Amino acid sequence: MSTREERLISHFRKIFQELGVDLNDADFKETPDRLMKMYKEMFDPSPPPKVTLFPNKSKESELILVKNIDVVLVCPHHLVFVYPGTVHVGYVPDEYLVGLSKIARIATWLAKPPKTQEDYTQELSDFLMKLIRPKGVMVIADFAHGCMRCRGTNQRRSTTITSSIAGVFAKPPKGKNPREEMLELLKLSRNE
Ligand SMILES: [Zn+2]
Repeated sequence: MSTREERLISHFRKIFQELGVDLNDADFKETPDRLMKMYKEMFDPSPPPKVTLFPNKSKESELILVKNIDVVLVCPHHLVFVYPGTVHVGYVPDEYLVGLSKIARIATWLAKPPKTQEDYTQELSDFLMKLIRPKGVMVIADFAHGCMRCRGTNQRRSTTITSSIAGVFAKPPKGKNPREEMLELLKLSRNE
């Protein structure tokens, strides 16, 4: 175990002592260790996914939509899980295409460290704009906030939807509206 890990455990032990928790109790004994591992998982960065771009040989310029990507976020205000979370990513390619599974990998990788849903949505859209340099990107995120569902206002069924648009999704060309198209496709798929 590293000295950083030992220090984290000792800090967690102090917090529990302050809260009046008996750390000799079998259920709590290992909790500082478990929290150390869990918080490291939440905060320590993981290497970015390896992504290869493919030349857009067929000059495909229609909307490509990857829907229902499962994402777990952690709220930076309460450090409570924001889950379940569903993310839909649409892009209109220009010179390059990206493997579809890579979009899901990037969406889950960017969910760390703890951040607000609003920042997450924007970061994902910015990251994909820089990476693929497409004609446009649209991200829709629908998350259930544990800090709202299980405490505070106790809104068990409430979810929060955020979106971020760039390129042709923000400024559609004449005769085409990829933003409308993406919303229409998501509406249709809900009735499946
Ligand atoms: Zn929160």
